[in-house]
Amino acid sequence: VNKVVGLTGGIGSGKSTVAELFAERGVTVVDTDRISHQLTGPNGGAMAAIEAEFGSTVVRKDRALDREAMRGIVFSDPGARVRLEAILHPLIRAESERQLCLAEGPYALLVVPLLFETGHYDALLARVLVVDCSEEVQRHRVMQRNGLDEATVSAIMAAQLPRAERLARADDVIDNNDGLAALTLQVDAKHRYYLANLVADSA
Ligand code: ATP
Repeated sequence: VNKVVGLTGGIGSGKSTVAELFAERGVTVVDTDRISHQLTGPNGGAMAAIEAEFGSTVVRKDRALDREAMRGIVFSDPGARVRLEAILHPLIRAESERQLCLAEGPYALLVVPLLFETGHYDALLARVLVVDCSEEVQRHRVMQRNGLDEATVSAIMAAQLPRAERLARADDVIDNNDGLAALTLQVDAKHRYYLANLVADSA
């Protein structure tokens, strides 16, 4: 049985970048965001349940979720988000576990952007690794990447767990304030640490 390391961090903190570096080192990466997108993409595995719950107005011709229509519903009805998550979460969880079971090597990485906010995966994880950078660096990178203004990015950040709380709940932290070279060195160090300390259970 593989050990699972949960990877989380605020928006734009560098989760995908860090996950890619672990993948380059041969670690299996399971990304809950990617699974969620597949489930709600064309003919995705969640679409039948979503259509039954919200009607055909949220289903596009290619049988993908109409994200804009769904956003409209969730915006005017907060309960709709809960119902959507009640459909998606068990499916994301099942597919994550399926992929983790196939993983080779002593440990695998599970990327969960809202890991602490939802608490859904706590029992599955041997360690929680947080990617961290200052809020200033974070804001700057998200504004650049998404072409968003500062107020919009600040609003998204305010809806997530505060940085200090995320750090307090981490087992391990990667500092992503500097460039890719510094980041790579830290991923190497964490990878070595996990290889040495996360021993697969027998059975
Ligand atoms: P999201 O929460 O939106 O999924 P994320 O946490 O996965 O984001 P990334 O997409 O990895 O974050 O990084 C956010 C942006 O910052 C990207 O454009 C990425 O290329 C850039 N970035 C990440 N780390 C660094 C770094 N050390 N130096 C410079 N740019 C970086």
